Amino acid sequence: MTERIGVFGGTFDPIHVGHLVTAVNVRHVLDLDRVLLVVANDPWQKADLPVTPAADRLAMVEAAVGDVAGLEVSDVEIDHGGVSYTADTLATLRRRQPGAELFLLLGSDAAAGLATWERVEEVRDLATLVVVTRPGCDDAAPPPGWDHHSVEVPRLEVSSTDLRARFADGRPLDWLVTDAVVHVIRQRGLYAVDQMASPRRATS
Ligand code: ATP
Repeated sequence: MTERIGVFGGTFDPIHVGHLVTAVNVRHVLDLDRVLLVVANDPWQKADLPVTPAADRLAMVEAAVGDVAGLEVSDVEIDHGGVSYTADTLATLRRRQPGAELFLLLGSDAAAGLATWERVEEVRDLATLVVVTRPGCDDAAPPPGWDHHSVEVPRLEVSSTDLRARFADGRPLDWLVTDAVVHVIRQRGLYAVDQMASPRRATS
């Protein structure tokens, strides 16, 4: 049987429940064997923004995934080094697993902007696109010529940007990130968290 592998890339700065809910729901709907959460080394989309070191973001994703069935962390882009382009990532994954079918998970906003991506025709050849939509949102289609699946996942209005602000000023994090992620953040002193009050259930 051909292995079906989902590829879900992100900066994950930090990883949150929106990411996890997306990964497990797409895996379920498309009957994927596993979904790789691919941690960007140097995301070109965020070139002008400060980004937490890749090793710290990787540790948070490892903590979040834990032993969740069918989810795996991938450091392929960190290993590759430099700027993270999806075309390179998919090519590496294909080399490692020539027999597998790759499914690239993208939010509908990202799918609509695919035409601007580096070597986008290679992306199209290497993977089947999965556009992740949210209930009540218009399904922004990918550019013409792209076969794709659409998968609707519950809408969770959480973003890493908002979480970083919450960490910095001590607002509650409960249920927005997992306890294991909070633990890594505290342990590594990320997001100026050393000044914040103890979260509800975090282990220290
Ligand atoms: P930031 O706020 O720093 O831009 P982010 O929360 O969007 O970060 P990323 O790591 O940039 O997180 O996102 C990785 C992928 O996860 C992207 O495809 C993005 O569309 C998707 N994503 C982000 N937030 C959510 C959410 N709440 N629900 C579902 N998918 C999400």
